[in-house]
Amino acid sequence: MQKYRFNGDFPVDHLNNMTIQSAFAGLTAAIGHLYDAREAANIGHLLMEHITGLGKLDRIVHKDGDLTPAQEDLYQQSLAALLAQKPIQHITGKSWFYGLELLVSDQVLIPRPETEELVEWILKDHPSQPAWRLLDIGTGSGCIPIALKKHWPAADIWAMDVSPGAISLATRNASLQHTPIRFVQQDVLSPDASKVLPSLNIIISNPPYIPETERADMQALVTAFEPSVALFVPDSDPLLFYRRIALLALEKLETGGKLYFEIHESFGQEVMSLLEKEGYAEVQLRQDMFGKDRMVRAVKK
Ligand code: GLN
Repeated sequence: MQKYRFNGDFPVDHLNNMTIQSAFAGLTAAIGHLYDAREAANIGHLLMEHITGLGKLDRIVHKDGDLTPAQEDLYQQSLAALLAQKPIQHITGKSWFYGLELLVSDQVLIPRPETEELVEWILKDHPSQPAWRLLDIGTGSGCIPIALKKHWPAADIWAMDVSPGAISLATRNASLQHTPIRFVQQDVLSPDASKVLPSLNIIISNPPYIPETERADMQALVTAFEPSVALFVPDSDPLLFYRRIALLALEKLETGGKLYFEIHESFGQEVMSLLEKEGYAEVQLRQDMFGKDRMVRAVKK
């Protein structure tokens, strides 16, 4: 069978003869101790697409094609990074969220499937695509507001984050997705946060919620490569952000406006009582696909 390089237009013999197929097989075997078989195969497909620029079908058709030296270098570097437990999304610079391909970096959390479920809840609650004003607090990659804006083009969507790196990445994502969003770089814990905000119909947040003590039990994949500022809260006050956002929302939400939170699975009852104590109505807890308490919704009276 004819061998050829993917960035050239003539066949070349290759000493190592690393083909698309052997690269994929080598990779999934090499990371087999870190990931289960299905995950390793997914990672293999994402990486081979990143390296060759070819979709899955083209990679099957050209499975015996050699990688170029440059592609092989990238393969070796990526493999070393994966073995050091770097997330595949940081190697490709991309991740999927609610059907959208978004840029990610070490400045933001890689969007999680649990957060897609939060977006799903919000969209299902309001099938009429309201032209409302919404705010996402701690937006990171911008995944929540971008997904919402795609479904509610008439909504006026605001997004806040303390991190300049997150705001700049989220701004790029919003522009790539053609979803205009008003980004505000601001610490929600600062007393100034409410001054820069308009009145709102919905406030959403997936704030940092993991107590520092849990850091030791987490995968290096998360703790070594994702931003601590997006993940951890002091053991002494794990609900810090929920308390602050509940107060901000009392000030900024219209009557009947809604607050949606992603939460730590161990704090469902605590977040619910906090919201009830602050006077919210219809406080409701929801589980994620793994059956863990993961989301709370409340209505401002
Ligand atoms: N769900 C994320 C994780 O497990 C944490 C998100 C957060 O702290 N807001 O890594």
